Amino acid sequence: MRIHRLRGLMASTHLIETDSALFLIDAGFFGHASTILRAIRRLGRQPQELRLVLITHAHLDHFGGLAGLSDAVAFETACHPDHVCTVERGGLLVSPAVRLGWEHYVQLARHTMGWLPVRGTGPVIPLKDGTDLSAWGLPGRVVHTPGHSAGCLSVLLDDGTALVGDLVQGKRLPTLVPELPAMAEDTTRAYASWERLLAMGATRFLPAHAGEFTAGELLATLRRDGIAAA
Ligand SMILES: [Zn+2]
Repeated sequence: MRIHRLRGLMASTHLIETDSALFLIDAGFFGHASTILRAIRRLGRQPQELRLVLITHAHLDHFGGLAGLSDAVAFETACHPDHVCTVERGGLLVSPAVRLGWEHYVQLARHTMGWLPVRGTGPVIPLKDGTDLSAWGLPGRVVHTPGHSAGCLSVLLDDGTALVGDLVQGKRLPTLVPELPAMAEDTTRAYASWERLLAMGATRFLPAHAGEFTAGELLATLRRDGIAAA
Protein backbone atom coordinates (compact mmCIF):
# COMPACT_ATOMS: atom_id res chain seq x y z
CA MET A 1 0.00 0.00 0.00
CA ARG A 2 1.30 3.43 -0.94
CA ILE A 3 -0.05 6.84 0.11
CA HIS A 4 0.44 9.89 -2.08
CA ARG A 5 -0.13 13.43 -0.88
CA LEU A 6 -1.75 15.57 -3.57
CA ARG A 7 -1.19 19.24 -2.85
CA GLY A 8 -4.18 21.46 -3.52
CA LEU A 9 -5.04 25.15 -3.63
CA MET A 10 -6.31 25.16 -0.04
CA ALA A 11 -6.12 21.63 1.34
CA SER A 12 -4.18 18.55 0.36
CA THR A 13 -5.81 15.20 -0.33
CA HIS A 14 -4.36 11.72 0.00
CA LEU A 15 -4.52 9.06 -2.67
CA ILE A 16 -4.11 5.53 -1.32
CA GLU A 17 -2.93 2.97 -3.81
CA THR A 18 -3.30 -0.76 -3.30
CA ASP A 19 -2.69 -3.50 -5.84
CA SER A 20 -6.41 -3.85 -6.55
CA ALA A 21 -7.90 -0.35 -6.14
CA LEU A 22 -7.46 3.34 -5.40
CA PHE A 23 -8.92 5.30 -2.49
CA LEU A 24 -9.08 9.01 -1.91
CA ILE A 25 -9.23 10.79 1.42
CA ASP A 26 -10.92 14.15 0.72
CA ALA A 27 -11.51 15.67 -2.69
CA GLY A 28 -9.98 19.12 -2.21
CA PHE A 29 -11.23 22.53 -3.29
CA PHE A 30 -12.67 23.51 -6.68
CA GLY A 31 -10.46 22.43 -9.55
CA HIS A 32 -8.73 19.68 -7.58
CA ALA A 33 -10.30 16.95 -9.73
CA SER A 34 -7.78 17.56 -12.51
CA THR A 35 -4.91 17.22 -10.01
CA ILE A 36 -6.34 13.91 -8.78
CA LEU A 37 -6.88 12.49 -12.28
CA ARG A 38 -3.41 13.58 -13.38
CA ALA A 39 -1.83 11.95 -10.32
CA ILE A 40 -3.67 8.68 -10.93
CA ARG A 41 -2.50 8.51 -14.54
CA ARG A 42 1.06 9.45 -13.59
CA LEU A 43 1.11 6.38 -11.34
CA GLY A 44 0.17 4.25 -14.34
CA ARG A 45 -3.29 3.58 -12.89
CA GLN A 46 -6.76 4.29 -14.28
CA PRO A 47 -9.37 6.65 -12.77
CA GLN A 48 -11.87 3.77 -13.01
CA GLU A 49 -9.86 2.05 -10.26
CA LEU A 50 -11.01 4.72 -7.79
CA ARG A 51 -13.31 2.75 -5.49
CA LEU A 52 -14.10 5.05 -2.57
CA VAL A 53 -13.74 8.77 -1.82
CA LEU A 54 -14.00 9.38 1.91
CA ILE A 55 -14.69 12.99 2.88
CA THR A 56 -13.27 13.71 6.36
CA HIS A 57 -15.75 16.57 6.83
CA ALA A 58 -17.97 18.79 4.72
CA HIS A 59 -15.84 21.93 4.50
CA LEU A 60 -15.51 23.28 1.01
CA ASP A 61 -11.76 22.81 0.77
CA HIS A 62 -12.36 19.09 1.37
CA PHE A 63 -15.32 18.35 -0.91
CA GLY A 64 -15.36 21.25 -3.42
CA GLY A 65 -13.55 19.09 -5.96
CA LEU A 66 -15.93 16.16 -5.58
CA ALA A 67 -18.52 17.12 -8.21
CA GLY A 68 -15.85 17.68 -10.85
CA LEU A 69 -14.34 14.30 -10.07
CA SER A 70 -17.70 12.54 -10.28
CA ASP A 71 -18.24 14.13 -13.70
CA ALA A 72 -15.17 12.23 -14.90
CA VAL A 73 -15.44 8.85 -13.20
CA ALA A 74 -17.81 6.74 -11.09
CA PHE A 75 -16.92 5.91 -7.47
CA GLU A 76 -18.56 5.61 -4.08
CA THR A 77 -18.54 8.59 -1.70
CA ALA A 78 -18.78 8.43 2.07
CA CYS A 79 -18.66 10.74 5.09
CA HIS A 80 -20.00 11.05 8.62
CA PRO A 81 -23.83 10.87 8.85
CA ASP A 82 -23.99 14.48 10.12
CA HIS A 83 -22.37 15.78 6.92
CA VAL A 84 -24.13 13.65 4.30
CA CYS A 85 -26.74 16.33 3.51
CA THR A 86 -24.11 19.05 3.09
CA VAL A 87 -22.07 16.97 0.65
CA GLU A 88 -25.13 15.79 -1.29
CA ARG A 89 -26.70 19.25 -1.58
CA GLY A 90 -23.54 21.33 -1.79
CA GLY A 91 -24.10 23.23 1.44
CA LEU A 92 -21.62 25.45 3.23
CA LEU A 93 -20.26 24.83 6.71
CA VAL A 94 -17.63 26.97 8.46
CA SER A 95 -16.18 26.29 11.91
CA PRO A 96 -15.57 29.23 14.30
CA ALA A 97 -12.07 30.64 14.70
CA VAL A 98 -10.12 29.62 17.78
CA ARG A 99 -6.76 31.12 16.83
CA LEU A 100 -6.16 34.84 17.24
CA GLY A 101 -6.60 36.78 14.01
CA TRP A 102 -8.61 34.13 12.21
CA GLU A 103 -12.03 35.68 13.01
CA HIS A 104 -11.64 37.93 9.97
CA TYR A 105 -10.89 34.96 7.75
CA VAL A 106 -13.98 33.15 9.01
CA GLN A 107 -16.17 36.22 8.44
CA LEU A 108 -14.77 36.61 4.94
CA ALA A 109 -15.39 32.95 4.19
CA ARG A 110 -18.99 33.14 5.45
CA HIS A 111 -19.70 36.19 3.28
CA THR A 112 -18.02 35.06 0.10
CA MET A 113 -18.73 31.34 -0.01
CA GLY A 114 -22.42 31.90 -0.73
CA TRP A 115 -21.36 33.21 -4.13
CA LEU A 116 -19.41 30.12 -5.04
CA PRO A 117 -20.96 27.63 -7.46
CA VAL A 118 -21.00 24.74 -4.99
CA ARG A 119 -22.46 21.57 -6.44
CA GLY A 120 -23.59 18.62 -4.38
CA THR A 121 -22.81 15.02 -5.25
CA GLY A 122 -24.73 11.95 -4.23
CA PRO A 123 -25.66 9.53 -3.01
CA VAL A 124 -23.25 9.69 -0.08
CA ILE A 125 -22.80 6.69 2.20
CA PRO A 126 -23.00 7.55 5.93
CA LEU A 127 -20.07 6.02 7.83
CA LYS A 128 -20.21 5.53 11.56
CA ASP A 129 -17.41 5.23 14.07
CA GLY A 130 -15.67 1.87 13.74
CA THR A 131 -16.79 1.09 10.18
CA ASP A 132 -14.43 -1.53 8.76
CA LEU A 133 -13.11 -0.30 5.41
CA SER A 134 -11.88 -3.74 4.37
CA ALA A 135 -15.33 -4.21 2.79
CA TRP A 136 -14.00 -1.82 0.12
CA GLY A 137 -10.57 -3.45 0.11
CA LEU A 138 -8.86 -0.87 2.32
CA PRO A 139 -7.21 -2.34 5.44
CA GLY A 140 -8.38 0.12 8.05
CA ARG A 141 -11.36 1.63 9.81
CA VAL A 142 -13.24 4.83 10.33
CA VAL A 143 -12.83 6.75 13.58
CA HIS A 144 -15.25 9.52 14.55
CA THR A 145 -12.93 12.37 15.61
CA PRO A 146 -15.03 15.45 16.44
CA GLY A 147 -13.46 18.78 17.40
CA HIS A 148 -12.73 20.77 14.27
CA SER A 149 -16.36 20.04 13.46
CA ALA A 150 -18.83 17.61 15.01
CA GLY A 151 -18.91 15.41 11.91
CA CYS A 152 -15.18 14.89 11.40
CA LEU A 153 -13.95 11.43 10.52
CA SER A 154 -10.43 10.07 10.45
CA VAL A 155 -9.21 6.92 8.76
CA LEU A 156 -6.94 4.69 10.82
CA LEU A 157 -5.14 2.18 8.63
CA ASP A 158 -4.03 -1.16 10.04
CA ASP A 159 -0.37 -0.11 9.73
CA GLY A 160 -0.93 2.75 12.23
CA THR A 161 -1.26 5.56 9.69
CA ALA A 162 -4.02 8.03 10.58
CA LEU A 163 -5.45 10.36 7.94
CA VAL A 164 -6.96 13.07 10.09
CA GLY A 165 -8.25 15.84 7.81
CA ASP A 166 -8.42 19.05 9.84
CA LEU A 167 -8.47 17.45 13.29
CA VAL A 168 -4.87 18.61 13.70
CA GLN A 169 -2.94 21.39 12.01
CA GLY A 170 0.20 19.72 10.69
CA LYS A 171 3.81 20.78 11.19
CA ARG A 172 4.79 24.08 9.63
CA LEU A 173 7.20 26.91 10.23
CA PRO A 174 8.18 28.43 12.55
CA THR A 175 7.34 25.92 15.31
CA LEU A 176 7.21 22.66 13.31
CA VAL A 177 4.89 21.03 15.85
CA PRO A 178 1.31 19.77 15.39
CA GLU A 179 -1.28 22.25 16.67
CA LEU A 180 -5.01 22.71 17.09
CA PRO A 181 -6.55 23.85 13.80
CA ALA A 182 -7.15 27.61 13.46
CA MET A 183 -10.90 26.90 13.39
CA ALA A 184 -12.74 24.46 15.60
CA GLU A 185 -16.22 23.90 16.99
CA ASP A 186 -14.92 22.35 20.22
CA THR A 187 -11.25 22.25 21.19
CA THR A 188 -11.90 19.99 24.20
CA ARG A 189 -13.38 17.37 21.89
CA ALA A 190 -10.50 17.87 19.46
CA TYR A 191 -7.95 17.07 22.16
CA ALA A 192 -10.04 14.04 23.19
CA SER A 193 -10.03 12.85 19.58
CA TRP A 194 -6.23 13.20 19.46
CA GLU A 195 -5.94 11.10 22.63
CA ARG A 196 -8.33 8.51 21.26
CA LEU A 197 -6.34 8.03 18.05
CA LEU A 198 -3.14 7.68 20.10
CA ALA A 199 -4.84 5.10 22.36
CA MET A 200 -5.98 3.20 19.28
CA GLY A 201 -2.38 2.83 18.13
CA ALA A 202 -1.97 5.58 15.53
CA THR A 203 1.74 6.17 14.94
CA ARG A 204 1.91 8.34 11.80
CA PHE A 205 -0.44 11.26 11.19
CA LEU A 206 -1.27 12.73 7.78
CA PRO A 207 -3.21 16.02 8.05
CA ALA A 208 -4.87 17.95 5.20
CA HIS A 209 -2.93 21.10 6.00
CA ALA A 210 0.86 21.23 6.48
CA GLY A 211 3.28 18.45 7.20
CA GLU A 212 2.86 14.98 8.67
CA PHE A 213 3.91 14.18 12.22
CA THR A 214 4.41 11.28 14.60
CA ALA A 215 2.50 10.06 17.64
CA GLY A 216 5.37 11.31 19.81
CA GLU A 217 5.09 14.81 18.36
CA LEU A 218 1.32 14.89 18.96
CA LEU A 219 1.78 13.66 22.51
CA ALA A 220 4.35 16.42 23.08
CA THR A 221 1.76 19.04 22.06
CA LEU A 222 -0.82 17.44 24.39
CA ARG A 223 1.69 17.69 27.23
CA ARG A 224 2.68 21.26 26.35
CA ASP A 225 -1.01 22.27 26.39
CA GLY A 226 -1.56 20.58 29.76
CA ILE A 227 -3.94 17.93 28.39
CA ALA A 228 -1.71 14.91 28.95
CA ALA A 229 0.50 14.38 31.99
CA ALA A 230 4.14 15.29 31.40
ZN1 LIG B 1 -12.14 22.04 7.81
